[in-house]
Amino acid sequence: MLDTGMTRRHLLAAMAAAGLGAALPATAAGPRGASAAARDGAAAGRRPDSIGVALVGLGYYATHLLAPGLQLTRNCHLAGIVTGSPEKIPQWQQQYGIADRNVYSYDDFDRIADNPDIQAVYIVTPNDLHLPLTRRAAAAGKHVWCEKPMAMNAAEAQEMIDACRAAGVQLAIGYRMQHQPSTARLRAMAKDRPYGRILKVSADAGFHAYDDVDPSSKPWRLLPQHGGGAMYDMGVYSLQGARYITGQEPMAVTARSEIHRPHLFEGVDETTYFTLEFADGLVAECSTSFGKNMNTLRADCERGWYEVSPFQAYKGIGGRTSDGGSFDDGGVPHQQALQMDNDALAILEKRPPLVPGEEGLRDMRVVDAVHASAREGGKRIVL
Ligand code: NDP
Repeated sequence: MLDTGMTRRHLLAAMAAAGLGAALPATAAGPRGASAAARDGAAAGRRPDSIGVALVGLGYYATHLLAPGLQLTRNCHLAGIVTGSPEKIPQWQQQYGIADRNVYSYDDFDRIADNPDIQAVYIVTPNDLHLPLTRRAAAAGKHVWCEKPMAMNAAEAQEMIDACRAAGVQLAIGYRMQHQPSTARLRAMAKDRPYGRILKVSADAGFHAYDDVDPSSKPWRLLPQHGGGAMYDMGVYSLQGARYITGQEPMAVTARSEIHRPHLFEGVDETTYFTLEFADGLVAECSTSFGKNMNTLRADCERGWYEVSPFQAYKGIGGRTSDGGSFDDGGVPHQQALQMDNDALAILEKRPPLVPGEEGLRDMRVVDAVHASAREGGKRIVL
């Protein structure tokens, strides 16, 4: 009922752009493999107080990355689903052994408050639903994990933080790259400056897709009311990359957007270029697009450079330095499993998650400024 149409072709284009190749986990292949994986996961040392997670919105990301990832985790496991598509339910129940009592629709989702099997709710829906579903999950007393972009704007992001704080639950944003060793290395290099001061940064993230979309039935990523457009979807990777490779927060933003397929991109951006200004004159030139394959993060420094490309793929993070060094993904077998295990451990240990709502809010402030600058003909906006 609610299928949004990231068609197989879009999916393949996006995967190619992300450097994924044939990397879909084996659990996506069929029910038997996944059930076996679930049993094995439990047998292979899942902790007894593992956090029960309900996935909300059973689309591409939940189906192909998060649910398979939850078969590999030690600190959390897939316990429930929330879906507006009843036809998806039998397959999910069979594949992952989900009990009837742990299956919800958006209408009866609030009953989750009474379900002791589920401690965390992972929101994986179109972006406009992140705020209302977070409100409901927090009111039900569940910890909230929410996909990027956190919200439609900074005001919504703040509301999500407030709702979770008031309910005494955690709020973690699904910025998987922040859990990667390659990101930790970039942060350390920003501090240690092995090639001297960073003079310039570039951060580009995008993929080419949607050529075959019928303009009368666009997927949500092309619709403004759902938080569509390249900046929300892929621009946050460029923005995050620029922030963690510099180790600084931007102080001002200028932006402009371009549209090459106006029949598809009405009220949403197809390609956006944005410049972030940091303290001491450092500038990051960033771009994002639904019309170009791009996946590169680079720092040019006083005595050399380093570049990670792809820098935000699910697998195969790779890069090089001007003196012949290399970057890899640190041998992480499954990014989403790592992220969810880290976030579950934060809940179990009663400490803040690595990527709390406040981090999503920082980005949403910049995203708001990017949109405003692009709307106002590239006006410089001080943050
Ligand atoms: P999909 O369109 O594939 O799936 C979204 C799902 O949300 C749908 O299948 C549907 O599930 C549910 N949904 C509820 N209401 C609506 C509605 N009005 N229109 C469409 N779908 C609806 O999207 P993705 O899985 O690709 O993306 C979901 C979220 O995850 C987004 O916020 C996106 O930015 C993020 N994401 C993050 C990634 C990352 O690497 N961190 C990668 C990909 C996506 P159901 O039928 O079960 O209700």
